[in-house]
Amino acid sequence: MQETISPDRTNPKIAITPEQADRCLACGTCTGVCPASESVPGWDARKAIRALALGLDQEVIDSAWPWVCTLCGRCEYNCPMGVELVKTFRACRGARERDKVPGTLHQGILMNLERGNNFGIPRDDYLMLLADLGVEMENDPDQPCPGFYVPVDKEGANLLVTINARVPYAEPDNLKFWWRIFYAAKEDWTLPAVNWDGVNWALYTGDDVSMKIGVTRIIENARRLKVQTILYPE
Ligand code: SF4
Ligand code: SF4
Repeated sequence: MQETISPDRTNPKIAITPEQADRCLACGTCTGVCPASESVPGWDARKAIRALALGLDQEVIDSAWPWVCTLCGRCEYNCPMGVELVKTFRACRGARERDKVPGTLHQGILMNLERGNNFGIPRDDYLMLLADLGVEMENDPDQPCPGFYVPVDKEGANLLVTINARVPYAEPDNLKFWWRIFYAAKEDWTLPAVNWDGVNWALYTGDDVSMKIGVTRIIENARRLKVQTILYPE
């Protein structure tokens, strides 16, 4: 059952506690190893942590810095004081009002909560596409795959496969690359009929509530279909 989420729902405020930032020596090692340094005028990893240490949380939250940070973790790995920069910058993203999340990320999350994928592809269209692509692959004039079909909701398969919704939305033929590997390997796999999007945009936006719903749905699919292994192609 899909959870009912109001489209104007805002993310719960994530408190940024000063304990982590207070350890900072201002050594600048984080900025020195950061691939995003100089991406946002006036900001870098060290400055953002110092601003948080000084209680200027809102300035950091309102800045572009947390969103250009790739969350790669190089700063944290090299920090001599063990400051959890990744967690801190992601928390800054989560603390921003949802209608100020850059781009279409939050709209995609709401779409996913409502329809089970970030692009809002209706279930019937998705199932029809899978069936059509399966027939195309089976009868491909250059590389036919006799007997191939897309196994949807197959109980007890070895592998539960998730999809990036952008692929069926914009590049559906690319789904066949994975499927050809499965076919050649005689893999026992399945795609879920619902909640099949494996790309969790809430991870990027710092939205823990929505992220948990997305992850839980994938796990529920695995349990429902009695599949032990989940594949995230992205
Ligand atoms: S590396 Fe650590 S201690 Fe040094 S400036 Fe960055 S956060 Fe502060
Ligand atoms: S996690 Fe962000 S701040 Fe740290 S090194 Fe990577 S891009 Fe820079």
